[in-house]
Amino acid sequence: MTATATRVLVLNSGSSSVKYQLLDMHDGSRLAVGLVERIGEETSRLTHTALTGGGAGKRERTGPIADHEAALKAVAEELSADGLGLDSPELAAIGHRVVHGGLRFTEPTVVDDEVLAEVERLVPVAPLHNPANITGIRTARALRPDLPQVAVFDTAFHTTMPESAARYAIDVETADAHRIRRYGFHGTSHAYVSRETARLLGKAPEDVNVIVLHLGNGASASAVRGGRCVDTSMGLTPLEGLVMGTRSGDIDPAVTFHLQRVAGMSTDEIDVLLNKKSGLVGLCGDNDMREIRRRIDEGDERAQLAFDVYIHRLKKYIGAYYAVLGRVDAIAFTAGVGENAAPVREAAVAGLEELGLALDSALNDERSDDARLISAPYARVAVAVVPTDEELEIARQAFTLVSENSLD
Ligand code: ADP
Repeated sequence: MTATATRVLVLNSGSSSVKYQLLDMHDGSRLAVGLVERIGEETSRLTHTALTGGGAGKRERTGPIADHEAALKAVAEELSADGLGLDSPELAAIGHRVVHGGLRFTEPTVVDDEVLAEVERLVPVAPLHNPANITGIRTARALRPDLPQVAVFDTAFHTTMPESAARYAIDVETADAHRIRRYGFHGTSHAYVSRETARLLGKAPEDVNVIVLHLGNGASASAVRGGRCVDTSMGLTPLEGLVMGTRSGDIDPAVTFHLQRVAGMSTDEIDVLLNKKSGLVGLCGDNDMREIRRRIDEGDERAQLAFDVYIHRLKKYIGAYYAVLGRVDAIAFTAGVGENAAPVREAAVAGLEELGLALDSALNDERSDDARLISAPYARVAVAVVPTDEELEIARQAFTLVSENSLD
């Protein structure tokens, strides 16, 4: 790596999409952002926005993009058109979001054949995500074989969980034979937000205990003690825990046997039911919190029920993680719902004054893109809204790793 190489391309490869951002780690600024959607269909679309230089502005391409290789080539062309091509000596690394790193990957990792093989071995526990992540890495490697490809794992931040939190209470041999345990996800966001919360409080992460509530379409909570995760709500898969946009979150596992035996549903049908047709969408038909709030304002009872179930679960996790941590310095709300939905924040902490929690309603209602405190001045526990930035966190971790390696 040359001293002038300060850029990192972050790739988040899904099964039919690739999201990307090019960042300059000199100051963390974004040079370009974009998205390729509907890969493999006739109606693929690439939306590219250059945020710097003469090419600044948004461009769109439509038409078939056959596979991830074609998608990345198209991205490379768009970046080149803005003078930000992948062949630039200023590019230090490509950072890849990888959903499942199992127990082995506790840190960002430079990808080689052996690492790729291990990520492949984890496909059975992350069948929806890891294959697309692997394809993204392979394709990027083929385009720039000389450049470090860094995998940043969603599970890594949670590998500090003690066994008491990570183990399911099932037969140990069966669990170990099939790698069944609680891994947790959204780790990059929990890491970033817990650190930013400490910064907001003017303290070192080591000195702060935080409950992070990542409430997007997928949602998870984590208990972070002194910068280290000690519990999180997602488990073997992202299905466990909070009520989400389309996922049930916690459920009696016997519901699945019951659906098989009594309703004659197949495993795949139950998988779709619990992952795609449950949560807010299952309860009221909508998974967008804005729409749910609008319906509640019109007196819609199903929407109210969905909101109430969502809040009840959220409160249970706040209480549980309060008990796990013993002392809580802050609760941080993040992601689409957490950052924007003031009524969710208000309802989640309502009635918890005995735990030292109280909001300043004017601050809670204020709209802002900045990290901010919304607790009442007399509250013992700070409540914060901290916009998450997983791409910046991936870029930082990748850049730190390659910078350290180049000093060796
Ligand atoms: P993900 O990355 O999991 O797809 P996001 O973190 O982008 O999700 O969150 C998306 C969700 O955020 C939407 O489904 C919607 O429920 C919620 N959301 C976004 N903007 C608002 C808003 N202004 N008010 C309330 N909820 C919002």
